[in-house]
Formats: sequence, structure tokens, C-alpha cells
Amino acid sequence: MKISVAPLLKAPVGAQIEYDVVESPVDPRGDNAGLLDADITSIDAEILATHTNPGALIEGDAKANVAEECSRCLKPIETPVRAQFAEQYYATIDVMSGDPKAEPPRDAKIVGSDFRIDLTPLLREEIILATPLAPLCTPDCRGLCETCGRDLNLEPHVHHEAVDDRWAKLEALKDFHPERE
Ligand SMILES: [Zn+2]
Ligand SMILES: [Zn+2]
Repeated sequence: MKISVAPLLKAPVGAQIEYDVVESPVDPRGDNAGLLDADITSIDAEILATHTNPGALIEGDAKANVAEECSRCLKPIETPVRAQFAEQYYATIDVMSGDPKAEPPRDAKIVGSDFRIDLTPLLREEIILATPLAPLCTPDCRGLCETCGRDLNLEPHVHHEAVDDRWAKLEALKDFHPERE
């Protein structure tokens, strides 16, 4: 979702505007479709924009669901994620005079010449950072059997130690005694 910060930048420093970004499920053809690139399937975010000297400070508190796989049994799961963040956007043009403003720091986020900020990449980035790398379907998921690959949650089982080929050859050697003089 893109917001226009022109009205905010015209208001005195310290002025604030709130936005809600709420969509469940995220519509692949809607304003927040870019969230689906990170498998974010629902979003409920409160965004507070504050007019600061360099431009606009964007603070957010976002709750999202992310489609993932259980890291043990590979079952598809929805992980609830919460991200809280603050990001300074630098204005490049003075909204009143139209004059260019001082060069922003390297790698700073900037407010474009259209005075719009796209919240979608920001939300995507922050939610990815807050998403667990090894999610579990349940805290005690038993995972997949290392021997046969079946789901140990559905079919709890153990395999009795099978003697593998290499071991069988060693066993055979043990019984081999070359004749000695
Ligand atoms: Zn699992
Ligand atoms: Zn097995």
C-alpha cells in the first residue's frame, strides 16, 4: 500500500497521521500483493507516520501470518509473526518550495518526488526479519523417520538395527583365518 506523505510534510514538525493496513487473506491483485512474495498471507498493521526534520518517521506494529513448512515434518503451516519497527524516510524535495533538500545519508530510505511511501516493501522486509527460520507444526513434532521418511507423528515406529552390506563384509573377514605355518 502506498501512502502520500505530502499532507504530513506540509503540517508542522511533530504532526502525526495513522494508517491501518489490514487484509486477510492478502489479495494477489490488491494493493498489498507484494506481501505474497514473502508468503505473507494476512496482514494487520498499525502504522504511525510522524513529520520529522529529515522527512517522515514510519513506526509500525504488524501482525501477520506467514505460510511455511514445519522444519521437522514438512507439513504446511501458518506461522503467526509480529514485527515492531521504526524507519526514517528522508525527503529529497521540500514540499513547500519544491527545492531539493540536503543529500540523504547513503542507503537511507527516501521519500520520492511524488511524496509517496510504499509501505509494502517495508512491511515485507520487517516481517521476514521477524519470521522464525525453523518453525514447528507443534512444539513436540516428532518429524520424519530418518530411515524410511514416514511421518513419525502419524506412524510412530522404530527400526531394528539392520546389518548393512559393509558391516556384513567385515563380519565375514573376522571369520577368515589364513593358514599359517
Ligand atoms: Zn511437524
Ligand atoms: Zn521409519
